[in-house]
Formats: sequence, C-alpha cells, structure tokens
Amino acid sequence: MSDPAESRMFQTMPDADTHARALKALTLWWEDMGIEADPLPVARPKLPSPSPAPKSQSRDPLQAPEKPAIATPQAARAAGFGTPDGDPEDARKAVANVRTLDELKAAIMAFDGCALKRTARNTVFSRGNPAADIMIVGEAPGRDEDEQGKPFVGKSGQLLDRMIRASGLDPETDVYISNILNWRPPGNRTPSTEEIAICLPLIERHIAIAQPKVLVFAGGVSAQALLRATTGIMKLRGRWAEYRFKDADGEAGDHIPAMPLFHPAFLLRRPQEKARAWRDWLEVVKKVEGAD
Ligand code: URA
Repeated sequence: MSDPAESRMFQTMPDADTHARALKALTLWWEDMGIEADPLPVARPKLPSPSPAPKSQSRDPLQAPEKPAIATPQAARAAGFGTPDGDPEDARKAVANVRTLDELKAAIMAFDGCALKRTARNTVFSRGNPAADIMIVGEAPGRDEDEQGKPFVGKSGQLLDRMIRASGLDPETDVYISNILNWRPPGNRTPSTEEIAICLPLIERHIAIAQPKVLVFAGGVSAQALLRATTGIMKLRGRWAEYRFKDADGEAGDHIPAMPLFHPAFLLRRPQEKARAWRDWLEVVKKVEGAD
C-alpha cells in the first residue's frame, strides 16, 4: 500500500462499517479525479482541457487578479475607500474586543459596515470544529451557503468534503471552515478589492481566536488576501507559506504554516487539476499529523 492516505486510513479503521464508508469516500474522490483502476495520483490520465467558457459566464478565480493587488485595510483607507460601502477600520474596531468565537459571531452579525450584508439572506460564519488543527478559509458564500448560513455546503463544498474524507479526516470534526467574506456577493460575482479589505479584519480576528495549527487557503482570493500577496494561485498552490496571526490592533504576531490550494469550484470546472489539489491536501494532512 503506497498511498499515504490509504495507509493512514487502514491503520485507524476501527470496524468494517467505518472501513467501508471510508473506502467509498476514497473511491468517490478517485473517480472525481478521473482515476478508475489505479488509485495513485500519478496514474491520472491526461484529460483534454475544456474549451474556455465565455467570459461573461465564468470567472477563473486562479487567474491573475484584474486589479493589481488585494488592498490591505490600510491601503484601502489610503486610497480613499471607506465610502460608500464601509471602512475596514470600522470592521477592525467592531471585533477588536471580542475574545470568543461566539462573541465574534455576534459582532459580525451586528456589523453593518459591508454593503453585501444588505443583499445577503444570511451572515455565513463557519462550520466544522472550531478546535480542529486545520482551518480552511475560502472566498465568499455562494447561493447555497447564503441560504443555509454555512460555508461550503453547495457543490464545491461537497467536493471539498469528499477530498477531506478521502484523506481519512472528517469535515465536521477534523477541520474548521470559514470564508474571507461573511456575505454573498450578488450573483456570485467576484468580491471587490474594497469588500475584501472591509472583511479582512473580521476573518483575521476569526483566525486569531480559532488558533488553528495549520491554515489552508481555498483559492487565490483567500491566499492573496491573507498573505497580502499578488502572486496568482497557480504559483502559490502547493507551497508552504507563513501566516502571521493578527492581534486586536491588526498587528502581526506568531506564525503558522499555511497552504494555498486550488478552489474546489475551479476543480469542478477543471477536473484534471484535482490530482494536484489532492497532493497539496495530503501535505496539509501530513503536517498536522507531524504537529503535537
Ligand atoms: N466558495 C467559497 O469560497 N466559499 C463558500 O462557502 C462556498 C463557495
């Protein structure tokens, strides 16, 4: 048995039922990757690239951003952002004094500084286990997430869950999941630089309170915003980065390892990239298993 995830799963299987469920999850994931006989990622067949969708219908979250950089709250302020949609400094102040996730959730629900809240049905905070070693941060809620008030519950979330399960972990107990934005951009449009800048202090406080051991960025928007990077996800993915916790004033503190991954919505459009995402995810699993 040469696949590390497979070995891990067989070492920890307590009974035949759990074993069967884990195998099913793994098989589903391999099927997702286009692998039928040999489960090893190296056996991935080369699939033709799908023809590009018309620009107006689909957005590739991994292409270089159209805007030159993700603004920090400070940069957004300096550039005159703050009106009419809100001010990142207001967001930072709104959560500066919260100490627990419950307090944070209440503060975010009461925060009116992001215009997206007016068109969203729900504030989408988190799902999973807040005490988990791994925290996954995506981009923004979509329609299903907006309806249910939980992140990653639609198609891309189901794919994410399958990948997590296939590695022998449980999405509800072994990971904690949130997004850069707590509110759905209308029509799932790309969040603006300004919206990201406004919501950044909220997710940074969220990460600081959750204190994960490893952070995973699901997609380029998340990686660029939280790393203050302008590099595209094609280059960022699969390489360990350092994420620095931010204190209540937004100042950087201790760091943890952080792994940028392809966004699951991108994998749904480009299944041939799933093998790379799987390898990157296994790096994350290996890292937490090595952590005490
Ligand atoms: N895409 C994201 O980035 N987050 C979600 O919660 C759902 C889809």
